[in-house]
Amino acid sequence: MTKNNDGWHLENSYAQLPEAFFTETSPEHSPSPQIVMLNESLCGDLGLDPQMLNSEEGIAILAGNRIPDGGKSIAQAYAGHQFGHFTMLGDGRAVLLGEQIMPNGKRVDIQLKGSGRTPFSRGGDGRAALGPMLREYLISEAMHALKIPTTRSLAVTVTGAPVYREEVLPGAILTRVALSHLRVGTFQYAAARQETDDLRTLADYAIHRHYPHIENDKNPYHTFLKSVIERQAELVAKWQLVGFIHGVMNTDNVSISGETIDYGPCAFMDTYDPSTVFSSIDREGRYAYGNQPGITEWNLSRFAETLLPLLHEDTDEAVNIAQEAISGFAERFHRYWMAGMRSKIGIFNEEKEDMLLVKKLLRIMQDQKADYTNTFRAFTLNKAENLPFFDHPEFQQWLKEWKDRLSRQTETEEEAYQLMKESNPAIIPRNHRVEEALESAVENGDLRAMERLLAALSDPYSYSEKQEVYIAPSNSTDPYQTYCGT
Ligand code: AMP
Ligand code: MG
Ligand code: MG
Repeated sequence: MTKNNDGWHLENSYAQLPEAFFTETSPEHSPSPQIVMLNESLCGDLGLDPQMLNSEEGIAILAGNRIPDGGKSIAQAYAGHQFGHFTMLGDGRAVLLGEQIMPNGKRVDIQLKGSGRTPFSRGGDGRAALGPMLREYLISEAMHALKIPTTRSLAVTVTGAPVYREEVLPGAILTRVALSHLRVGTFQYAAARQETDDLRTLADYAIHRHYPHIENDKNPYHTFLKSVIERQAELVAKWQLVGFIHGVMNTDNVSISGETIDYGPCAFMDTYDPSTVFSSIDREGRYAYGNQPGITEWNLSRFAETLLPLLHEDTDEAVNIAQEAISGFAERFHRYWMAGMRSKIGIFNEEKEDMLLVKKLLRIMQDQKADYTNTFRAFTLNKAENLPFFDHPEFQQWLKEWKDRLSRQTETEEEAYQLMKESNPAIIPRNHRVEEALESAVENGDLRAMERLLAALSDPYSYSEKQEVYIAPSNSTDPYQTYCGT
């Protein structure tokens, strides 16, 4: 452990795992690096001085040209089910520099994404283009502001080297900050190797790092499984509540700590429709909005399978334990989702019929092709009369039932509106606004649109004036498509 005067305070606990879990590898040299985005508030949390990071030495670190003292550049090994197919993977275009020990004592991974080829790169070039890295920066920071667990973005640094896609694009590196990069895929990798001791070491490490309160449980691996299920249920409920579509929910993109990770083809839903898909490669809608809870359960089942050798020495018993844990997912997801939905319509207490009330509203929204965010925004502002389907008899009936429901709780109407304000974002990253900001950044080197959009997204529950220009969905009728960020 070294604490440098530039603020880096790195440890390498992951690199203490058995060597099968990583490979030491150096980032490729960046010929003329320049910082494009620097997250000053996150710098502060991490104990890093933005001025230091902006110095020649600081930039050299963010560009992969220099490893900070105490750091160690490694690519992590993992596997994963990609669109249902099991594959051996690993960091093909990223390196972990180490874990920063924050001034508050928390430990977070510092990863460079887009830093060049590694032994896991297969056919890829190991690089990332500026647009997709800015996109991850923008959306991950928006998610954080929405109070959704997520990896964070510390910086985007252009490397000065071109990347070759359908066109020649500026190459860039995203500095990603995560509670860890342990994924379901890391456990799949360990299980596939059939080295139970290594698997146990990995599980012990994950428990110690993310669930230390369960370390002394009678069967900590069982509690570990249940804890990961709980965090994923809570996470995906939060996605559903704001209309976030991850787009590539492969098991290598499911974090053990419960953070949203890997912002590739993700996007927010405008019109409420459970079948919404944006990703160009998701042709069958496997990762459609409405499928996200079910896919999470499927991914967690793959996780549970990896833990079987640790759950019980008798395989049948182990399978029973795993199945029982997985069967708790749906109920847990539903509980988190329902609690969130109640808050979105200003309800504090629980009544059995609430589920029906919510389902009716969603049915009307789907029939009326209502904008998901702006419908709840209208309720929050007590302006339901502005909704295009306000006069529809079904909606009128629903409003009446809703008002009746609000009157059956002890909280005042004012308190209900306050709860709605805290639960319904006034603003989400609208797809056309994101594209507009990225285009002017990449094509004209003009970051002002990106900065303005980030500022507006930084406090989504504030209902402030600067957000107004960003609230409308695109009026284009072309379906929006996203591409796996490369
Ligand atoms: P993802 O779809 O982002 O979860 O990535 C799946 C796998 O592809 C991971 O192992 C990545 O490291 C790898 N990968 C993605 N892009 C590249 C690239 N440009 N070069 C090498 N490997 C890549
Ligand atoms: Mg990934
Ligand atoms: Mg990705």
